[in-house]
Amino acid sequence: MPLAVVFPESTQHVSQCVKILAAHNLAIVPRGSGTGLAGGSVVYNQGVIICTTRMSQIHKVDIENRVAIVQAGCRNLTLTDAIACTGLRFSPDPSSQRASTIGGNVSTNAGGINTLKHGVTSNHILGLEVVLPDGEILQTRTHQCYDGIGPDLPGLLCGSEGILGIITRVWCRLVPDPKAFRTIYAVFKTNHDACKTVADVIACGIVPTSMEMMDGKMIQVVENAFHFGFDTTAGALLLIEVDGVDEILDDEMNQIIAIANENHAMDIEFCADAARRAELWAARKKTFGAIGRISRSYCTMDACVPRSKLPEVVQRVTEIGAKHDLQINNVFHAGDGNIHPILLFDEDDAAQVQRVMQASEEILEYCVTIGGTITGEHGVGVEKLAMMHVMFNKPTLKMFLDLKKAFDPKQMLNDAKLIPSDKLRIDLHQPPGSSEHPLTGNFTKNSPGGAL
Ligand SMILES: Cc1cc2nc3c(=O)[nH]c(=O)nc-3n(C[C@H](O)[C@H](O)[C@H](O)COP(=O)(O)OP(=O)(O)OC[C@H]3O[C@@H](n4cnc5c(N)ncnc54)[C@H](O)[C@@H]3O)c2cc1C
Repeated sequence: MPLAVVFPESTQHVSQCVKILAAHNLAIVPRGSGTGLAGGSVVYNQGVIICTTRMSQIHKVDIENRVAIVQAGCRNLTLTDAIACTGLRFSPDPSSQRASTIGGNVSTNAGGINTLKHGVTSNHILGLEVVLPDGEILQTRTHQCYDGIGPDLPGLLCGSEGILGIITRVWCRLVPDPKAFRTIYAVFKTNHDACKTVADVIACGIVPTSMEMMDGKMIQVVENAFHFGFDTTAGALLLIEVDGVDEILDDEMNQIIAIANENHAMDIEFCADAARRAELWAARKKTFGAIGRISRSYCTMDACVPRSKLPEVVQRVTEIGAKHDLQINNVFHAGDGNIHPILLFDEDDAAQVQRVMQASEEILEYCVTIGGTITGEHGVGVEKLAMMHVMFNKPTLKMFLDLKKAFDPKQMLNDAKLIPSDKLRIDLHQPPGSSEHPLTGNFTKNSPGGAL
């Protein structure tokens, strides 16, 4: 539990709060909507949460210069809805966009369904206003055009998970809505055929807006819950979209359909109809909700792998699930190689919780050995601390820490998250509530995370 939760309404409020807390040497944890999946906004050391959800104003939408200036606590979908009639949009679209804040999206450098073609959050940020750990207010590139002056501070702050400063305002780049689209739904007998289609489409030079995949178990869960008409005998489903100008889209769509057929697609549907498109994407966005019908708890893992390795990765994930006697469902951003194995379990069954931890670790280690990463978009937080040494060598981790100290010499802001250290040695194999569990206060001795 935090000592207190503060809900500031302005940048000045945040600055004043930080100055008071710093004067009392109190640890601070920045928080948006709390949808993060790596424990980044969780307090472990009696800190105070500064929550931005009451900083939700859109200060300005400048159509001519294609920029929106918002407070950090503005929800992603609030901005999207507010500019829907302008022909422009803010491209980052995490599946949590209904709830997550733009400040949270920047802090985690969120991805989403559009990431494959349009990039992650950092590709759409023109400037930031940030309260530093001593309460001073930093403004980086807050004019409404590009410049090349000095280091790229917004780039540095994107994905810094609240350890360098508290983001209070964001200058969001707006891009034109695509003029047209084609949505393709294809089902396959095997995961292998669907994954191979993804790799082959990218290899042929087309960059779709999105290529999302569900495995057979996930198709059944979604169909049983929402009755979209999906073929529940299929082993995998791909939802692919291309966008741009009408003249080239049919050609791209036909190439994709040909590739899916070469990979033994059982059935293919395509549409340029807005209503059917909305229905298909609603199906994708409802997948996580549907899991609640079949399992009390689930753990969503997040890693990124080279696309060419997707067929073997999905196979390996299934094998790891079988080894630990766990059901693992898959729904993921296949085009980015960003996998999300969903491990189903019952949180009251301590042995099962242990097996989930073990299986998650094995999946991540495997992904790194084939050239992947320990997170694609959810970040490190506390969840992946012990895996950081698998990903980065000591000089790199030391550079992260040096950067942290340059911004936050007293190390009061979201301290010990993201960068492994002796302060928070996570051993997630200890069950929650046990005296050894790190988030109950006792830090374990045998973390594999190489402390600096
Ligand atoms: C159902 C579901 C679907 C999801 N889908 C996606 C997805 O498609 N893509 C994706 O990338 N993520 C996804 N996520 C993860 C999560 O929604 C994102 O990481 C999101 O960007 C977090 O935003 P938030 O406002 O909830 O931040 P929080 O969870 O409150 O915080 C996340 C991190 O950012 C820091 N932080 C938050 N606000 C600030 C601030 N103003 N200044 C400094 N630091 C701050 C926190 O300290 C913490 O480390 C999903 C989560 C759920 C539950």
